[in-house]
Amino acid sequence: MDKVVAGIVAKALDGGEITAAEIRTLFGVDWRSEEAFLMQHASRKMSEATAKGKGEVHGQVGVDVGPCPKNCEYCSFAAKHGVFPEARVQPTAAIVENCLGLEAAGANAIYLMATAAVALPDYLKIAGEVRAALRPETPLVANVDDFDAAGARALRKAGFAGIYHCVRLGEGQVTAIDPRVRVRTILAAKQAGLLLGTSVGPVGPEHTVEELTATTVLTRDLKPVNSAACRRINIPGLPLTAHGSVKYGRMAHILAVVRLASGYDIVGFGTHEPNGMGAMAGANLFWAEQGANPRDTSEATVRGWTVERARHLLEEAGWEPLAGPSVMFGGGQRP
Ligand code: SF4
Repeated sequence: MDKVVAGIVAKALDGGEITAAEIRTLFGVDWRSEEAFLMQHASRKMSEATAKGKGEVHGQVGVDVGPCPKNCEYCSFAAKHGVFPEARVQPTAAIVENCLGLEAAGANAIYLMATAAVALPDYLKIAGEVRAALRPETPLVANVDDFDAAGARALRKAGFAGIYHCVRLGEGQVTAIDPRVRVRTILAAKQAGLLLGTSVGPVGPEHTVEELTATTVLTRDLKPVNSAACRRINIPGLPLTAHGSVKYGRMAHILAVVRLASGYDIVGFGTHEPNGMGAMAGANLFWAEQGANPRDTSEATVRGWTVERARHLLEEAGWEPLAGPSVMFGGGQRP
């Protein structure tokens, strides 16, 4: 066992904040090594301690399909890819029905996802209907385009408990969004009292230890209530697809490093798509999706991950699926 790695892991487990240099060291370890398994075990212990052994499944409903001007290289909605040439917002009744279906299946929080082509006032109108239909204690989470302080206040007023927002790997290079804009949005949300869920991703095999470390530190500094590490799901024919996919075994190592770096302040730690190796390595948050999403070319996909299936996977990895509102998003305390 490498004593340096063991020392860094012990520091994290003892509640110390590991440095960027230490994070780099952990990312640099071979994912099939004894040290990588030590990290995964420690990551799991950390999640067990913060979440008291519970796991959560959050449901996400896609509001629209169509060309998105932000043109993220890995996304099926990017206008330049032409996968969805026509913009279409799903009927509100269908969105509400999907949200209610996820809630009835046991989702602990509901996310409403829209591309950057949907204007915030239109999104808020839909969200109002969803909020009114859901149980009052079910946290609603916004996954939307960047917004300012007024937008953040409007989201909070509409009954959102939090946002899912990330500074993605390669932000500004493989996307048309300045990373500073992403950070500004997150700070505005927090200022308005919205809780932050975030992640390090989408990870591809081409990402260097340096890139992973920088995003891990940035993500930690934003002080989310839950974080995650997610691999890129490749859409056939898109340019980044040529790099291939990170293996779930390597993702388990990556998520363990991000989890250890995030510390005890976050309750939950996720990975996407749900997988047993990630769940064993400390991921206790999975997402189930309805409607379209950026990793698919179909308008109405659940990508095979229903709430029930994700809950079952948590159980298989020794987590107890939480019943009721997400603890990670405030435990049902409405804004
Ligand atoms: S990832 Fe989001 S912002 Fe980027 S192109 Fe897709 S929908 Fe637009």
